[in-house]
Amino acid sequence: RQIVKLEGVINDVDRIKVMVAYRDDPSPSKLNLGIGVYRTEEGKPHLLNVVSKAEKLLLNDKSASKEYLPITGLSEFNQLSARLVLGHDSFAIKEKRVCTVQCLSGSGSLRIGAELLARFHHQHVVYLSQPTYGNHMNFFIAAGITVKYYRYYDETTKGLDFQGLLEDLGSAESGAIVLLQASSHNPTGVDPTVEQWEQIRQLIRQRGLVPFFDCAYQGFVTGNLEEDAQSIRMFVADGGECLIAQSYSKIMGLYGERVGALNVVCKAEDVACRVESQLKLIIRPMYSNPPIHGAAIVATILRDREMYDEWTAELKAMIVRIVNLRHQLYDALCERGTPGDWKHIVNQVGMFTFSGLNEDQVSFLTKHYHIYMSSDGRINMAGLSSKTVPYLANAIHEALASV
Ligand code: PLP
Repeated sequence: RQIVKLEGVINDVDRIKVMVAYRDDPSPSKLNLGIGVYRTEEGKPHLLNVVSKAEKLLLNDKSASKEYLPITGLSEFNQLSARLVLGHDSFAIKEKRVCTVQCLSGSGSLRIGAELLARFHHQHVVYLSQPTYGNHMNFFIAAGITVKYYRYYDETTKGLDFQGLLEDLGSAESGAIVLLQASSHNPTGVDPTVEQWEQIRQLIRQRGLVPFFDCAYQGFVTGNLEEDAQSIRMFVADGGECLIAQSYSKIMGLYGERVGALNVVCKAEDVACRVESQLKLIIRPMYSNPPIHGAAIVATILRDREMYDEWTAELKAMIVRIVNLRHQLYDALCERGTPGDWKHIVNQVGMFTFSGLNEDQVSFLTKHYHIYMSSDGRINMAGLSSKTVPYLANAIHEALASV
């Protein structure tokens, strides 16, 4: 098993250092825009009402227990999760071609998926977007899979380098795995359009590459769960194979419950059955079986129409808050006449803005304003509020004038 050090990749160490530095800073005006979690307008962790409601129901449920779950997790949770991501009318589900196992959130699902591919797929190379979520490389390296990158972000347009992406995937080894973020790309906030997804799908299928979707932010772009799953559903609709790692950390605010699922969409029912047996053999010696509480919360919400609607309304409110903050920050920079074109702040989607600030400018913000973010300039928009937007705009304005 190889240990690879990749230059220029912002990995988790950077983000962890930012977290620690923020924690130890005594300044009352300190601002944490580094961590990838949702915060309320008051800067507090966000517990969804619908989650509290589900927990109360579970507490009063006399038939509930704390028995072990099966290796593959809570069966109802798995069925509901597959339906959430693939749609109620999914043919793949109807044809029993989807194997879904509950895993330890998105990370666990990615790690188990990587292990499955390392054992049973012939091509041990994965392509990640450049840049990508800092932990992605680790899931694959730990499974013994070689990590390579495809171009994704264009620094000049602060948008998608679509040509670069097509060229790199077009010359990837046949059978290589391609990690795709389904929506709300972390860290860039840049997603392909539906037309671009269609071209990516055709290329991946023509070249026999294996699509592995990371779906950690379903609903975080539009507030609509169906729309944000479109990229995945296009691949599933063509009848081909793919893997999907799902996470409930962000979309239900269940970070610490570690609840998610790995879906393996196969070409035939008997393959899906064999995949499930192999996943059991992978999971059993790792952690035996997953935790019950988070999965029970999710199942309680997803199975009930009213609670489902309440959840999606709460999710939508989070997205609306983030979009408003994008506009406020953009307006504040324009009002100050801060040099540069800041349109990308409103054009980018989801939780993050890839601000374009360089490492020195980020250091300036931290040193003079106690504003914390990772050195690649990624801003967690949910860490802002209407009150702190002017403070950040002043800081950026001064950083650009000084550095
Ligand atoms: N994938 C992406 C793109 C993420 O941003 C994150 C967390 O920030 C994860 C996966 C993993 O999150 P979790 O393991 O909490 O589901």
